[in-house]
Amino acid sequence: MKARDYLHLANPAVSDLVPYTPGKPVEELERELGISDSIKLASNENPLGASPLVAEAIQKTLDGLNLYPDANGFYLKQALSEHHDLPPDCITLGNGSNDILVFLAQAFLNPEVAAVYSQYAFAVYPIVTQMMGAKHQVVPALPIDHPMALGHDLRAMYAAVDDDTRLVFIANPNNPTGTWLNQERLIDFVGSLPPHVICVIDEAYTEYGQTDVLGDASTWLDRFPNLVVSRTFSKAYGLAALRVGYALANPGITDLLNRVRPPFNVSVLGLEAARVALQDQAFIEKSRAMNEAGLAQLKEGLSALGVDVSPSAANFVLAHFGRPVDEINRGLMKQGVIVRPVGNYGLDQSLRITIGTPEQNTRLLNALASVLEKM
Ligand SMILES: *Cc1c(COP(=O)(O)O)cnc(C)c1O
Repeated sequence: MKARDYLHLANPAVSDLVPYTPGKPVEELERELGISDSIKLASNENPLGASPLVAEAIQKTLDGLNLYPDANGFYLKQALSEHHDLPPDCITLGNGSNDILVFLAQAFLNPEVAAVYSQYAFAVYPIVTQMMGAKHQVVPALPIDHPMALGHDLRAMYAAVDDDTRLVFIANPNNPTGTWLNQERLIDFVGSLPPHVICVIDEAYTEYGQTDVLGDASTWLDRFPNLVVSRTFSKAYGLAALRVGYALANPGITDLLNRVRPPFNVSVLGLEAARVALQDQAFIEKSRAMNEAGLAQLKEGLSALGVDVSPSAANFVLAHFGRPVDEINRGLMKQGVIVRPVGNYGLDQSLRITIGTPEQNTRLLNALASVLEKM
């Protein structure tokens, strides 16, 4: 095809945009290397799959694929409203919680204002900020020798807030670091923000975390009108393929998010799957328990190999190798183990490893041992 340069025609916010780097799909690795039986520990997906109720519910939707979904997601919102004990007009549905982050940026950011986020915070925060041409207030992370290595420095984030700040993005726990903030400190932080600043607390992993330590920001909405809580069905609920997330916020903010939300942004399958997944909290408990055991297994196994990890309240660990990880990553892939390089975060000596089943964790540890031995 004839090449033509369209860069000069692009919205300046878009021409500087660097797309999100996804985890490598299993099929792609197997196609490239001609191998089979690979495992993916790269995208923080639930290795147990999803609740069995989901497949059943989806089966029932298959007769109606010619019809648009309910654009308001009435039944899912009703289920979420009960689950969180919050009125439906506090809920915005997203095509994954990524959608929610985009709506927040569209609703509140422009080239005159700024978003605050931590260095090594989730990669989508800089992308949506950039997309709106807004200013980035990037706050240096805690140092690698801090107990919460590479985590959010809340005091420095507070100091970065100024008259231009409209959004503060906080991931609790954060991806890719796994680090977290204690609820007491976070509540103080949100309570001390000026009214022109909206605090987004992204709780993508909250079902895995120790809620007694991290808290549950959805229960703080009464106290803080400028709080937005972002949740997803992609992680513990095991529905990453179906793309469902949501925001909880006061009705004034929710109204704005729904103005920019595209019609029909969540599919019929997604709406139904999420609705029934909420009913199966036993599945979440099982996932949480397996994750807790897997975290201990990985921490111990990695430590035995001389590899440090950041503390994690999520379903992954950030492992630090003290040298560039390209070769280690390639070695793992050759053995059919996909993990996540995080060079796009400026962390070229670390790998993010999703906690799998006990067997998958063992396979990762054995593969890593053999790769490290040969170096
Ligand atoms: C995975 C993740 C998300 C969102 O994923 P969706 O699939 O779009 O819901 C949001 N925030 C963080 C911190 C994540 O790790």
